[in-house]
Amino acid sequence: MLAKGYAVKAAKAPLETFVFERRQMRKHDVELEIAYAGICHSDIHQAREEWGPAIFPMVPGHEIVGKVTAIADGVTKFKVGDLIGVGVFIDSCRNCESCKKGLEQYCVEGMTGTYNTYERDGKTVAMGGYSDKFVINEEYAVHVPQNLDLAGVAPLMCAGITLYSPLKNWKAGPGKKVGIIGLGGLGHMGVKFASALGAETTVFSHSPSKEADAKKMGAHHFVSTKDVNNLKKLEKQYDLLLNTVSADIDLEPYLQMLKLDGTLVVIGLPGKPYAINAGTLLGQRRSLAGSMIGGIAQLQEMLNFCGEKSIVSDVEVIKADYINTAYDRTVASDVKYRFVIDAKTF
Ligand code: NAP
Ligand code: ZN
Ligand code: ZN
Repeated sequence: MLAKGYAVKAAKAPLETFVFERRQMRKHDVELEIAYAGICHSDIHQAREEWGPAIFPMVPGHEIVGKVTAIADGVTKFKVGDLIGVGVFIDSCRNCESCKKGLEQYCVEGMTGTYNTYERDGKTVAMGGYSDKFVINEEYAVHVPQNLDLAGVAPLMCAGITLYSPLKNWKAGPGKKVGIIGLGGLGHMGVKFASALGAETTVFSHSPSKEADAKKMGAHHFVSTKDVNNLKKLEKQYDLLLNTVSADIDLEPYLQMLKLDGTLVVIGLPGKPYAINAGTLLGQRRSLAGSMIGGIAQLQEMLNFCGEKSIVSDVEVIKADYINTAYDRTVASDVKYRFVIDAKTF
């Protein structure tokens, strides 16, 4: 099946129009017409080879929403016309302990990413969502609630689930003090979810101009990280801190803000190691943890939660020929708060 989209042809090259072959539908596959695809900072890291060698040409994009246009034999989960979402992975081994628990993102054999990887046959290059059409096995896609703005749903498929999952895992809720570090695509979803779950929510941002937006999204407090003294005043106060910053920052002042048994979850993936002071961890029995997206069952749970609470991402919808500018603006923290490509413009 012929698809058109945008691809990076070599590391750090600009994205350009690209026509390519998608796999033919197999048993249990659904075909979708993409409506919107979000731009995640992970797309930029990979297109620019900031995480190590990548596969080119690369069609990035793992925040995909659209409409089902055809179903193959055996499909029971979707019918033609359904709204459908696809996130960061399209397959996994289905047999390991993680897969059996619905934690496909932690598949022992490794999940199959939506792009910049080979499918499980070991030879088909997976091409992502900056495109007009997609094919996916029904078990790795989810239903999108009808009542939400579709452009605002696309970022939920990565940014949304990536913050929802640790907030649920570390039990953010009433009586808990939660901090979201970085108010970008991921961070702004963290603020919306943490406050909707009832936690006292603080945004830590190096962009003081974002304060009013943060409060509108549900943040109770906003702290500018430009002055490290602002963090020093908050030592031993937080139960949970989620670091969504895409750059390598010093985690030390944030760890110091955790109270006894508090946890700092690393979510941003700058590609460089962090330096950790052991004394800071053991001083208050603090934990440093990581978290990666969420499994299919939790992805559906999050979308249903968004449907009930009318939560979507704040987006700037763009045409495909604006992608390269959108990349530069994202890297400059100049996005409110997620760029989403209108797939009709591919
Ligand atoms: P984004 O929209 O670019 O947001 C990142 C935010 O980090 C910026 O808006 C900015 O917030 C802050 N920031 C950027 N540079 C900074 C610097 N030099 N110093 C301090 N703060 C800075 O990116 P995103 O799409 O949310 O992704 C964030 C990170 O998460 C990326 O590394 C991405 O690869 C990773 N990620 C991880 C997962 C996972 O499963 N764990 C999933 C998706 C993405 P302020 O302006 O508010 O300071
Ligand atoms: Zn992502
Ligand atoms: Zn597995």
